[in-house]
Amino acid sequence: MIYLDNAATGAPSPVALDAYLEVASKHWGNPSSIHEVGYEAKRYLDKARKIILDTLNLTKTHDCYFLSGASEANNLAIKGVAHSFKARGNKILYGAGEHPSVINACLALEKEGFEAIKIPLKDGAPDPDQLDSNSHGAILACLMAVNNETGALSDITAFYQFRANHPKCLLLLDATQAMGKLALDYSKADFISFSGHKIGALKGSGALLVKKGIKLTPLIDGGEQENGFRAGTVNVAGAYCLAMALKESYANLKENLAKTEHLHALLHKGLEALSPFVKIHDHQRQSPYVLCFSTIRHKASVIVEGLSNKGIMVSSVSACSSKKENTSYVLEAEGVSKTEAANPIRVSFGLNSTEDDVKGLLDALEQLFNEVKTI
Ligand code: PMP
Repeated sequence: MIYLDNAATGAPSPVALDAYLEVASKHWGNPSSIHEVGYEAKRYLDKARKIILDTLNLTKTHDCYFLSGASEANNLAIKGVAHSFKARGNKILYGAGEHPSVINACLALEKEGFEAIKIPLKDGAPDPDQLDSNSHGAILACLMAVNNETGALSDITAFYQFRANHPKCLLLLDATQAMGKLALDYSKADFISFSGHKIGALKGSGALLVKKGIKLTPLIDGGEQENGFRAGTVNVAGAYCLAMALKESYANLKENLAKTEHLHALLHKGLEALSPFVKIHDHQRQSPYVLCFSTIRHKASVIVEGLSNKGIMVSSVSACSSKKENTSYVLEAEGVSKTEAANPIRVSFGLNSTEDDVKGLLDALEQLFNEVKTI
């Protein structure tokens, strides 16, 4: 089996999985309990928070709240800001290529009278120049670090400049596809969201990092867990597993990045040789962990299925929307042709990806392009 769909999810790291089992089996207390079993669980929870903030150099500036994943983190930041800061203004800005958990949270707020403004893409990422002109009355800008369908990397320095120039407009950076993969500075974002299962931890874990001093209206009414940001008994083992996975990914970040850059270049070169059949979607700023191309003569969904039948897993648009329709709204927002937007294939690398995976994929693609009926 060749698994090249790591932007959808990846295998848990053995280190993180061991950490999970250790805490889930031996330190299973409720961290809110006021007895020793609870205190023991709380120590692991505090340790997990410290590891995450230390790893990201955010101990002085941010707090860490454990949630079920990036979808929840994005919803909490967006709806929480809207409800807590509505006296400041009623506009929320979001990039045209954001994940559905951002776009649909913004659209849900429109029904409550907020104005959700879509920021066009430039080089595949939210165009920083378009932020200024839409800033009047804006209380939040929701912008991704790396696009999950195309790997386009945002100009985060420009987002921070916008944030500095507009103190009333907070910044949510969706770092789900960057976390543990690229060495980015997150210190100037007000909110940073990410999911555990994309960095070697487990599904159902994730975090929202929040600039110190910001208070958000919670999504869930209930107890005061996570400083009132998230009611419900905390998944301590999941949080500890998340922390260990993040720590591990940062310890190996440089060498993983170099290896992935090599695999990306190898795939790119191989696809160029298949150029009559594919159009590669390149960006000047690009995460090497994702490579997106369109099939020109074949239906991408048929090619993806053909690859799956050969034991090779890639995706056609993101897993979040691939069952509904095949047209990529991200590629549409990049302004590519209709056929290209309707036939995207995403290859995404993980820590276990190899040169043989890339070669296997390229061979299988060549075979399928010659065998499968054209459009
Ligand atoms: N944001 C981005 C950029 C993502 O890629 C994803 C996952 N595809 C999410 C948010 C949501 O993550 P989850 O499904 O783990 O909640």
